[in-house]
Amino acid sequence: MNNQKIGTKCVQAGYTPGNGEPRQIPIIQSTTFKYDTSEDMGKLFDLEASGYFYTRLQNPTNDHVAAKIAALEGGSAAMLTSSGQAANFFALFNICECGSHIVASSSIYGGTFNLIAVTMAKMGIEVTFVSPDADEDELNAAFKENTRAMFGETIANPALTVLDIEKFAKVAHAHGVPLIVDNTFPTPVNCRPIEWGADIVTHSTTKYMDGHGAAVGGAIVDAGKFDWMAHADKFPGLTQPDESYHGIVYAEKFGKEGAFITKCTSQLMRDFGCIQSPQNAFILNLGLESLHVRMPKHVENGLAVAKFLEGHKKVVKVNYPGLESDKYYELAKKYLPNGGCGVVSFELEGGRAAAESFMKKLKIAAIETHVADARTCCLNPATSTHRQLTDEQLEAAGIPAGLIRISCGLEDSADLIADIAQALE
Ligand SMILES: *Cc1c(COP(=O)(O)O)cnc(C)c1O
Repeated sequence: MNNQKIGTKCVQAGYTPGNGEPRQIPIIQSTTFKYDTSEDMGKLFDLEASGYFYTRLQNPTNDHVAAKIAALEGGSAAMLTSSGQAANFFALFNICECGSHIVASSSIYGGTFNLIAVTMAKMGIEVTFVSPDADEDELNAAFKENTRAMFGETIANPALTVLDIEKFAKVAHAHGVPLIVDNTFPTPVNCRPIEWGADIVTHSTTKYMDGHGAAVGGAIVDAGKFDWMAHADKFPGLTQPDESYHGIVYAEKFGKEGAFITKCTSQLMRDFGCIQSPQNAFILNLGLESLHVRMPKHVENGLAVAKFLEGHKKVVKVNYPGLESDKYYELAKKYLPNGGCGVVSFELEGGRAAAESFMKKLKIAAIETHVADARTCCLNPATSTHRQLTDEQLEAAGIPAGLIRISCGLEDSADLIADIAQALE
């Protein structure tokens, strides 16, 4: 399986039916599972045997799809969550607690920024945000005695900055903590952060993985390489007995390959219950089966639209890491040799008002709070998600009032460009 190409894994990994069994992953639409004896079930509760007893913790449909995502990312284990937000929260909270500190790139999804800067702060977890462009010395300076994780996005939503994964991993490892990378935008088809040193990879599967705007979901993948025992004092949750499971030590019992996901499932999923429904996992898998076919088309459309916009007189600036003029072109060549994604952002002359009237005139691209869909969609943060901010605050957040984020779908690029051209006129 490991030698297979990414496209074969998209179609085949995670589920191999036996003789006479369903060809497609069965949707196990059952909250619970039946046992002949209490002893049998007790072994599952004690983590002595693997199996299913209650869908809030684990469900076979989800596990097949998680196994596919683990294979795609080159990880040792994975789990699905109800959303991308839950995936990032679980990935961080699995190794952080009250009194911990996180170093995070400042160029991340707004929802994740709120999660870390506001909600996790209320749990007593501090954060230091660093520029994704910071050099090693600046990154080192952000670390503290109580730092437990470093976090960034391969391609940031919506800023479209590209993370120097190797540099971030090197600094994180020098401080004895794992690097967590949200790989939602490129997907494992275009970048596999584990190959560059990331320890944990997260996803909003709501985006390209599903790809059809049908199911909200998330995933966490463990590379299985981080040596928790070598930094045992930093990660007591993994290296000291868990009293809620009769004193199990996850890093001992499940090793580097299994400890992180087993603990995350048996503690956080048990207690917070952010499970993905088996129905949604099935829909997600349908998306994954064509991910390697769809991503090149999203990239092709994104690049075509970015190039068109770059040459248009009413456009002040275009952000797309695949453009030679982009600040992140060199990093994109290294980490995203086959292209990144279909999301482009650009600024119009005339700011907010120009953006508003431009978007109203679009006929194919719909105005939506969404990205990474088969259908092209767009958003002007200043008049929607960031509506409460003044122009000065927008500028400070790196979101000019005239900025438009367009997520190029799978339509014909000539039609997308014609639509944009008529709306600009
Ligand atoms: C959308 C998104 C999230 C949040 O995912 P949901 O599935 O909406 O909860 C997290 N990270 C990135 C990069 C995203 O684009």
